[in-house]
Amino acid sequence: MRRAAGAVAAATLAVLLAAAAGARAADIDWADVERQATDFLSAYVQINTTNPPGNEAAAAQFLADRFRQAGIDVETFESAAGRGSVLARLKGSGGGRPVILLNHLDVVPANPDGWDVPPFSGALRDGYVYGRGALDCKGVGTVDALAVLLLKQHGITLKRDVIFLGTADEETGGKLGAGWMVQTHFDRFADAEFVLNEGGAIEVLPNGKRAYSVAVAEKTPCWLLLTATGRPGHGSAPQKETAVTRLVRALEHVRVYRPALRVTPQVEAYYAALAPLQDDARRKQYGNLRGALRDAKFRAAFLDKAHDAALVHNTLTPTVLTGSQKTNVIPRSASAELDCRLLPGEEPTAFIDTVRQVIDDPEVSVDVLLNFPPSTSTTDTSLYTALRHAASREHVPVVPSVLTGFTDSHYFREKGITSYGFVPFALTEDEGSREHGVNERLSTDNLREGTRRLLELLQSLDEVGSDGHQGPQG
Ligand SMILES: [Zn+2]
Repeated sequence: MRRAAGAVAAATLAVLLAAAAGARAADIDWADVERQATDFLSAYVQINTTNPPGNEAAAAQFLADRFRQAGIDVETFESAAGRGSVLARLKGSGGGRPVILLNHLDVVPANPDGWDVPPFSGALRDGYVYGRGALDCKGVGTVDALAVLLLKQHGITLKRDVIFLGTADEETGGKLGAGWMVQTHFDRFADAEFVLNEGGAIEVLPNGKRAYSVAVAEKTPCWLLLTATGRPGHGSAPQKETAVTRLVRALEHVRVYRPALRVTPQVEAYYAALAPLQDDARRKQYGNLRGALRDAKFRAAFLDKAHDAALVHNTLTPTVLTGSQKTNVIPRSASAELDCRLLPGEEPTAFIDTVRQVIDDPEVSVDVLLNFPPSTSTTDTSLYTALRHAASREHVPVVPSVLTGFTDSHYFREKGITSYGFVPFALTEDEGSREHGVNERLSTDNLREGTRRLLELLQSLDEVGSDGHQGPQG
């Protein structure tokens, strides 16, 4: 029994240590954190980082100053003139590999029309910080930074290093931000095990139920350029076939093409996790999506919703069209860009072959504009377990979600770093829909609770075994 007694003693010690760490977090004056976070976000929003052009260097400097003042190692980078990124690293005791808190410094443009306050004012109104980026992604950067600063300030040493990484250029694909950092400065964080990025949140459903939506997979873009060529000439005496008529026929073939319905394991798991949050009928259907989709009536209703339909199909949609600049001139070439999105696990080369067959015209060329490998992370990790613990403290389920769009996570997944999309804010549909829209805002409650949740999550992660399982509690 000596062994067992030793195990009990070790377990007791672990509980005591956890309690000690928890006590220190509990010592934090959260009302003061709320004030700090509010001021931080308000000032941060006022730095206009509209991309294009970005000008993220000023934001990188703003963040770097905060870390430097607190005595935390920090470095800024520039991928091109003015395109700044920032990396700060808070050392742990070395008992685990680092976790990266990833956020982006740039924002999408904001037309002041329709806003109640100027979009770069960072105004505080009725308990909300307003402004472009309040949610996407400066609110995230604020709680990421605050969590690191609080750990330092309160002398809480975790096992893992915590890396704050704020990058440029996310809103136009990340090539001058996360992509560039991974390509040219990977040595700065090659030891990391996890990335926590945007992409999921605590969803507050219309029925009031909540879920920790953690994005574990993304559809991948396969953006294609179709180009048709033909004899140019005068519009008054056209040939039977021109570059434009060829292109139109190819696009008509794309329009009527119906990609196969496919329920991937990730999508199946996503709906199964959503099931308990639904009403009775929906609960059964989501619980067995594959089976439910065999029913014609359910299938029709399900596929009627664009988001649901996109999660069980590859999608193809024409967006950019170019041809002649003049009504009476038949151009030598005409082109169309197709925004195609592939389900997790889909093979891009096979997909492109299918598109060629669908177009069925060897005179229309198909070129790839953007594509990257499938982007999925397993849920069998200690960070996912820590997220489960965090959610269970709030008595809500964790939903492993699949995004129809993409984030910067793929850059890290391609390097073998597990990446999850989760920001610690509780958001209603209304709040979420303001992202990229008018009156984007984040509540000061979310700033306070988000910082607290993130800090507790990092502490939880410390207590979970590095193999993703936590002893008897699993
Ligand atoms: Zn974003």
